[in-house]
Amino acid sequence: MDSAEYERKIAARFAAFDQDGNGYIDREDFSAAARAVLAEFGTTARSDRGQAVFAGAEAFWQGMAGIADVDGDQRVTREEFVTGAAKRLRDNPHRFAEIARPFLHAVLAVAGADGAGTTPEAAARVLRVLGTPAELAGAVAAGLDTDGDGLIAEDEVLAAFAAYCGVEAPDAL
Ligand code: CA
Ligand code: CA
Repeated sequence: MDSAEYERKIAARFAAFDQDGNGYIDREDFSAAARAVLAEFGTTARSDRGQAVFAGAEAFWQGMAGIADVDGDQRVTREEFVTGAAKRLRDNPHRFAEIARPFLHAVLAVAGADGAGTTPEAAARVLRVLGTPAELAGAVAAGLDTDGDGLIAEDEVLAAFAAYCGVEAPDAL
């Protein structure tokens, strides 16, 4: 990978976390993501599942801030993301993904039909409301079902998230 491709990939990851596109990642981006998922599936914020999504989003934000908010102003700038998070993502994407586990677990519960697990169709709806282009969401969601049993398991999502986040650095860095 050359530097330009690395920059482009990091920029795409930053944009994915910066849900409202205001140029920095903060708590509001995570709560906006939580609200979007709950709205998509008609789940109230007060319900147990709704509260779990918000709690997971808060834990995800706290983990992100702990890694990347170098100056402690409760905002992760692009520069902080590149210097803080990107290095961590590169060195240990699976550990990074663990900070997302409570959120992903709660989202899968909301998107799953009462204990039946989460289908690729439901996962595609989640991806769309979180900003994945509609024309890509279906294929990405289908790819999450790595064992092909028609349902998406938490470990499959975590592995995919780690792979997505684990951007290889160019040789020059
Ligand atoms: Ca933002
Ligand atoms: Ca900061």
